[in-house]
Amino acid sequence: MSVLEELEPQAVFHFFEELSAIPHGSGNTKAASDWCVAFARERGLEVYQDQANNVIIIKEAAPGYEEADPIILQGHLDMVCEKAADCTKDMAREGLDLMVDGDTIYAKNTTLGGDDGVAVAMGLALLDDESLPHPRLEVVFTTEEEVGMDGAAALDADLLQGRQMLNLDSEEEGIFTVSCAGGCMAACVLPVEREAFDGMALTVTVEGLTGGHSGTEIHKGQGNADMLLGRILWAMAQHTELRLISAAGGLKDNAIPVSAQATIVAADEKTARAAVSEMGEILQREYRATDPELTIRCGKCGTQGTPMDANSTRRTICMLNCLPNGVQAMSYELPGLVQTSLNLGILETEPTFVRASFCVRSSVASQKKMLQERLACLMEQLGGSAAISGEYPAWEYREDSPLRERMTKVFQEQYGRSPRIESIHAGVECGLFCGKIPGLDCVSIGPDLTEIHTPRERMHIASVQRVWRFILEVLKRSK
Ligand SMILES: [Zn+2]
Repeated sequence: MSVLEELEPQAVFHFFEELSAIPHGSGNTKAASDWCVAFARERGLEVYQDQANNVIIIKEAAPGYEEADPIILQGHLDMVCEKAADCTKDMAREGLDLMVDGDTIYAKNTTLGGDDGVAVAMGLALLDDESLPHPRLEVVFTTEEEVGMDGAAALDADLLQGRQMLNLDSEEEGIFTVSCAGGCMAACVLPVEREAFDGMALTVTVEGLTGGHSGTEIHKGQGNADMLLGRILWAMAQHTELRLISAAGGLKDNAIPVSAQATIVAADEKTARAAVSEMGEILQREYRATDPELTIRCGKCGTQGTPMDANSTRRTICMLNCLPNGVQAMSYELPGLVQTSLNLGILETEPTFVRASFCVRSSVASQKKMLQERLACLMEQLGGSAAISGEYPAWEYREDSPLRERMTKVFQEQYGRSPRIESIHAGVECGLFCGKIPGLDCVSIGPDLTEIHTPRERMHIASVQRVWRFILEVLKRSK
């Protein structure tokens, strides 16, 4: 028996329920993709499926809309599979157990996949209805969004005629997302040489920091354990001769590191310890608002291998002190938005080199390039290098966006207020589409989804109804 059949809009919830019966976690999207293809074939719609299981379904313009610009509707097929600790469901093989609770839908003990199943359900419901007025619709469902946007990256956008795109992967009704940051990884590598040195081996530990996501939380001003370690080492080196053995901290390039540790050999132990405790107090004062649990310790340690020579020690400390980190520029077009940032996420020391891996982000392509060049320039001066990888384009804010204007007008009429126009300092699929389709006019919206990526995920029914009504009206006006 259907759990959602009483709910309006019926078609949307019907397709959502059908999708929920097909396991579709990231990496397991073939069946859901085939289901979309079968849907299109049954209705005689033009359909494309690629190696990545992306699906494009095209429906020609409704009568009277033949001259209107085509519109792309986009969302992702894959979902995050999380379940409650005691849940035995095999999410790779079993469908979800949908439940209705008041104004919300959830899946018993698992994620619901409203992110982004609601986009798939709405896309299919639009394609299924012969009575709706709309321009040529190009419905695109991508895969592996949740694990690096691989589907969108692989998609052949030449199949699309549309130059305006409505992305349905946002989680808060009333917000229009209109730009996102582009990014890359930058691995700064500094070769080091080693030689014996007489002194006391010590560890310096920075810990208890708050941390956070290197994109969406970088503006909060939290301390970066690796960078703080650099400042402490610099301060120590001003007071006593020392040699670095190793410095390390952080596990993920997209997380602000919460702890870091260095091992050193100091000529004068007492002076070295005094420098650490002085710097510790200074940093605790600086970061008392953002990182109240910050602690900095210095302790003795056993033999830790041959230290770096004087020159390598100096260059490594200089690198940790001088490489840029954190927010580099705020946007003047979208107040409150971080425009450009970078985060030293992983610091590692090997016998012959030190590597600092940064996650670089900017909503302005030329500023991302500027940061890449700044890192390369500094590293070159130090005798090292900066290697760039995993580059993805920014989705830049368009001052002139006919789609956003049309949507804003409809929103004001239906909601009696203005939408919030926002931008995010993290990567989303729209960025990849903008990189593939020059001049793409794009807005991202979606109904209220709460606690996504957790077994507590909820989709809000009344919000789905309002967003559906909104999309229908936007399509109707797209003439
Ligand atoms: Zn999503």
